[in-house]
Parts: sequence; C-alpha cells; structure tokens
Amino acid sequence: MSEPARPDGACALVTGASRGIGAAIARALAADGWPVAVNYRSDAAGAAATAAAIESAGGRAVIFQADVAEPQGPARLVDAVHAELGQISVLVNNAGVRADGLALSLSDDDWQRVLDTNLHATYRLTRAVLREMIRARFGRVINIASVVGPRANAGQANYAASKAAVIGFTKTAAVEVARRGVTINAVAPGLIATDMTEDIPTVLAERVPAQRAGTPEEVAAAVAFLASERASYITGSTLYVDGGLSA
Ligand code: NAP
Repeated sequence: MSEPARPDGACALVTGASRGIGAAIARALAADGWPVAVNYRSDAAGAAATAAAIESAGGRAVIFQADVAEPQGPARLVDAVHAELGQISVLVNNAGVRADGLALSLSDDDWQRVLDTNLHATYRLTRAVLREMIRARFGRVINIASVVGPRANAGQANYAASKAAVIGFTKTAAVEVARRGVTINAVAPGLIATDMTEDIPTVLAERVPAQRAGTPEEVAAAVAFLASERASYITGSTLYVDGGLSA
C-alpha cells in the first residue's frame, strides 16, 4: 500500500516564523511548493521580511499574528489559516521561548510561560489540525524540540521539561494516527545561531563535535525532508540536528 500524495491546494503553517529557525523553515517549505502561513507574535517586521523573501523566490506566503501560548490562540490561528489559505497539511510547531533560572529559584510565571509556549501550544495546534489530516489521509506534524530535555542543561529546568515533554507527546500522538497517513516527528536542534542563543558564549561551540554552531537553514532542511512525501514511513522519531552534540 503506497502513501497518498499531498492534497492539492493544501498549505503549511509554521509558528514563530518571524525570525530564526522558523523563518528558515517557512522559506524551505515554500521552496518545496507549499503555500505557507507565517505566524508571529510580536515581530511584525520580521514576519513581513519572511513573507517577502518567500514571494521574491516565487512562493506564496500569508502572515498571521497570533500568540500561540494563549489558550484560545491555537484554535483561532487554525481557523484563520483555513479561511485564507485552506486545508493545513503541514504543521510545524516551532514557536518557543526560554526563561532561564535554577530550579530552586524559577518563578511560577517563568515556568508557566515556557510550558505554555513550548508544550501546550504544540498540543493544542496539533489537536486542531489532526482531524482534517486524517480525513485527507495525508498530514505532517513536525515539533521543534531540543537537545536540552533528553539531556540536562543547568539553568533550564523549565525549558528542558517542555522539550522532553514535546518528544514524549510526539511519540504517543504519532502512534495514535500512524494508520492514517499522518506522521508526527520531532526535530531536536543543538546550538543554532539565532536571537535565542545570542547571549550564549561562543566558547560553548567548542563542545560541539562539529566545532561550530548550526544555521537555521540546516534545521530547516531536516524539517523540509520530514514534511515531504519521501519521509512517509518515518513517524514518532526525533531527528537531531546538532553537529554531533548528542552523540
Ligand atoms: P528565536 O530566534 O528566539 O525566535 C522565536 C520565534 O518564536 C519568534 O518568531 C517568535 O515570534 C516566536 N514566538 C515566541 N513565542 C511565541 C508565541 N507565544 N506565539 C507565537 N510565536 C511566538 O528562536 P529560535 O532560536 O529560532 O528557536 C526556534 C525554535 O527552536 C524554538 O522552539 C526553540 O526552543 C528551538 N531551539 C532553538 C535552538 C537554538 O540553538 N536556537 C536550539 C534548540 C531548539 P515574535 O518574534 O514575533 O515574538
């Protein structure tokens, strides 16, 4: 039994696509022919730059402002994308934040904000798109996790808890829909040069076997592969894009 092809006229939704890894993922999916819903929370200029880059390369992009950490944010975002771009066949849960501190002193707010953005939004968005993917017998959910979570990183207990949970969620949700032509995978980046890691000392790159930080485009290439028809038999897995850091 072969995997059905991706439906005509369907689109990809990338959360947190105003900069960094999300912007690179949006550009890579557009280059693969997907009309892309570019979500952002506060950086309207960044989202406009992502959409402009896609359009100047001949692709299609529509911008959607939404705070995915709000309980109603994911459902509203999915409704808005349906109304303007149609059926969502690829969902990339990329929006993420960190709010570091030692476990003994993390505030409830910093705990909650990181879990709401990195984990709860991932679940709510996935829930909001799965039915239509199952109906179409084609769907790709790609959750951006991290090397932090499966392994420790002092000062990031909230972030690590959220990303480890994203991997656990990915595995179980994947087996629940595996018969339906829908795959759910995680991509776990290591140290990637973006705004999020701007304050991290460059000396840390020396701990990476590849001896350098990765680029957003190197993460996007893995996401584009998992979103493609070629990745139809890969589900419930975590693909590390980390220059060997977790090896
Ligand atoms: P970044 O440069 O800080 O960008 C984060 C993006 O997420 C921005 O577009 C931001 O939107 C968006 N965002 C944050 N909260 C949001 C919310 N509540 N609703 C909607 N969008 C929201 O981060 P990055 O380095 O590209 O990271 C992207 C993903 O990769 C995250 O999940 C991160 O945890 C993961 N990751 C990154 C690294 C790394 O080394 N950089 C390593 C492992 C994993 P606005 O700017 O519009 O607010």
